[in-house]
Amino acid sequence: MAGNWKMYKTAAETTAFFEKFAPLVAQSVHADAVICPTFVNIPAAVAATQGTRIEIGGQNLYWKNEGAFTGEISGPMLKAAGARWVIVGHSERRQYFGETDATVLQRTVAALEAGLNPIVCVGERLEQRESGNTESVLKTQFDGGLAGLTPDQFAKVTIAYEPVWAIGTGKTATPEMAADAHKFIRAQVAAKFGAEQAAATRILYGGSVKPDNVKSLMAQPDIDGSLVGGASLEAVSFSLIVNF
Ligand code: PEP
Repeated sequence: MAGNWKMYKTAAETTAFFEKFAPLVAQSVHADAVICPTFVNIPAAVAATQGTRIEIGGQNLYWKNEGAFTGEISGPMLKAAGARWVIVGHSERRQYFGETDATVLQRTVAALEAGLNPIVCVGERLEQRESGNTESVLKTQFDGGLAGLTPDQFAKVTIAYEPVWAIGTGKTATPEMAADAHKFIRAQVAAKFGAEQAAATRILYGGSVKPDNVKSLMAQPDIDGSLVGGASLEAVSFSLIVNF
């Protein structure tokens, strides 16, 4: 269960969140709980979660380790700051910051080389769903991104299926819609990396997940967790999701 905080919260708000959240999920051994704050708040989040089972991630990374790349952050820098995870290819990065399947692959490889666990996002836009192209979009994203990894690299990847029209809109995919997409993605994994790897791959659903819809989504066999934006910003709300 991963929370994407996007561009929200100061360091003080980050610390206050974890003071409330950590005791609420202390018994949640059934799930990994990850929060991805803004880069500047990673140290505060790491300090606040010392000695807990909550792990911290970044929301993006650049594929070079260092250099003249103003404004960028590298995998080794995230790792040194205490992050263990990183979101790659979020639809907001694709929509506003020119992310492509090729750069998603570069960032994923960089994350793995830095020893981070990448959460790689895929998902269709509304017009792509309405024109019946959901599966071809997912296949293109998979073939152009994740399929370029070696089997050893792919084994460390978590996939997040996030239909773009469901992100931050309050419109959740029905559990059946999400299940169909997850099943399709798992079939792509099986075709490329084998049935055993497909069964072991974690595929998260993201898009307006809330405490009141998490149970029906998680009841679907191919949904292994969720990537949560808005509802991860409040401690009780995200704890209810982690503890579904
Ligand atoms: C997200 O940012 O990945 C997301 C799923 O956002 P929300 O839960 O707010 O739709």
